[in-house]
Amino acid sequence: MGKGFYKVPVAVNEPVKTYAPGTPERAAVATTYTQMYNTTIDVPMYINGKEVTTGDTATMSPPHDHKHILGTYHRAEKKHIEEAISTALEARKLWSQMPWEQRAAIFLRAAELIAGPYRSKINAATMLAQSKTIHQAEIDASCELIDFLRFNVQYMTQMYAEQPASTSDVWNRLEYRPLEGFVYAITPFNFTAIAANLPASAAMMGNVVVWKPSDSQIFSAKIVLDVFKEAGVPPGVIQMVMGDPEMITDTVLDSPDFSGLHFTGSTFIFKELWKKIGANIHNYKTYPRIVGETGGKDFIIAHKSSNPAQVATAITRGAFEFQGQKCSAASRVYISKSIWAASQKHLKAQMETFKMGSPEDMSNFITAVIHEGSFDKLAGFIDQAKKDSSAEIIAGGGYDKSKGYFIEPTVIKTNDPKYTTMCTELFGPVVTIYVFEDEAWEQTLHLVDQTSEYALTGAIFSEDRYALEVGVKILENAAGNFYINDKPTGAVVGQQPFGGARASGTNDKAGSKLNLYRWCSPRMVKETFVTPTDYTYPFLG
Ligand code: NAD
Repeated sequence: MGKGFYKVPVAVNEPVKTYAPGTPERAAVATTYTQMYNTTIDVPMYINGKEVTTGDTATMSPPHDHKHILGTYHRAEKKHIEEAISTALEARKLWSQMPWEQRAAIFLRAAELIAGPYRSKINAATMLAQSKTIHQAEIDASCELIDFLRFNVQYMTQMYAEQPASTSDVWNRLEYRPLEGFVYAITPFNFTAIAANLPASAAMMGNVVVWKPSDSQIFSAKIVLDVFKEAGVPPGVIQMVMGDPEMITDTVLDSPDFSGLHFTGSTFIFKELWKKIGANIHNYKTYPRIVGETGGKDFIIAHKSSNPAQVATAITRGAFEFQGQKCSAASRVYISKSIWAASQKHLKAQMETFKMGSPEDMSNFITAVIHEGSFDKLAGFIDQAKKDSSAEIIAGGGYDKSKGYFIEPTVIKTNDPKYTTMCTELFGPVVTIYVFEDEAWEQTLHLVDQTSEYALTGAIFSEDRYALEVGVKILENAAGNFYINDKPTGAVVGQQPFGGARASGTNDKAGSKLNLYRWCSPRMVKETFVTPTDYTYPFLG
């Protein structure tokens, strides 16, 4: 920034379009969905600005229609990963020196491309790849991604403006250098926005990135890559590689230039990655940054003073939207005895109106879970609950994988607060409810705090401020994103920075400055205007 202190456009959250019947956006996304469904595509890797095919391919199918083939993607051999690393390091020479306003312009342009010409494409691809309803696709692939890009540009400039004090004879300047080396981004299936943000946030700060999307999200990751290319991300800055996660990861982590991991996914995988990084620590030129946002066992606890219809709606929206496959999805619920009957009535009444099927039919609220592995795991927990005396299925309990991986939204009621589905992350449309005695409010709050290894999201419902205050204190460390009288999902960039602690991650809050700080290694430059020429101090006299 040689010639001005430029101001970036003020970041504003992208308005969520309604897709109500008759709207132009609904017609546009329906047409794009049909076109994408009826065409097959071949997704190459993207290394140093070139499309790389290997012939070792795998197919992509919609989870709600798993016999239908959307296309193929190419899987890497070790040599491709080595090439991705070496060409990224070559690209770093220019990219790390690129003035910030040029980096900002690229990612602001990407945001506008998604808001406009790519909106239907990225939403339709997310509906097909991840079986999201149009609303879930819109709030993820369009709005959240646009927000990540715009707000991160704003945060980056705010960070750059944060400078130490200087005096008349000394000017102190803090340079927010990118990391020396390259960043490795590993992304999950469940959010197109996260898939794009993990490489983009590091690249925005001047880093080069090797990005490995989830096998189950490649169809929509391809649109993200198209946007990055059209927005002008230069060759080598974001390399997209696909294939065997262990081979790719082992190759990446063997590089002495590995300087950071930006991960979102399950807790077990993240802990394994941390171990591998630790085992290689003597080989690295710099201590790698490790950022991981991982699993959750997110709770709702409802005091006897809370409104049963509100509690029921927090469950139907918080536990079942996107089939419960949000890291923030409510999956264990604690309800005070005196409001249980009314809450149950509202919950069942709402669930009876759920429609399940393909997202192409926009009247469906529930679609399929991501893949057969997830389907089988969830069906197993449902079968077990049917057998266990401490559990009772009070709604749902059906499943069918003949056409798509459909699990009926299921409510388990248990009399054992440590029942397996109260503790284990299931990542599907299954919620477990424990009803507690009205007098046991504090005791139950402690139970909520101690039941799970995770601490991602949680919600408390209460119309009684004293009871609420007790809950806010006792649950201080039980959730990184804590909600009062609201469902525990739906964090908005710029409003509720997102991340959890304990086994839920490093809590570096995606969509905030806290995350961007991890992708730079500041250099402090002190410049003295009149430099001493004599070592002696007055006290020596
Ligand atoms: P996952 O852990 O199965 O996969 C995540 C990524 O890790 C994928 O790219 C996958 O290919 C890769 N991977 C798998 N095995 C690997 C290995 N051995 N070495 C290296 N990489 C490997 O998770 P998922 O099913 O894609 O996503 C769901 C999980 O992500 C849930 O646990 C959810 O809670 C979590 N999640 C957390 C957040 C958050 O912000 N905390 C957000 C979204 C998802």
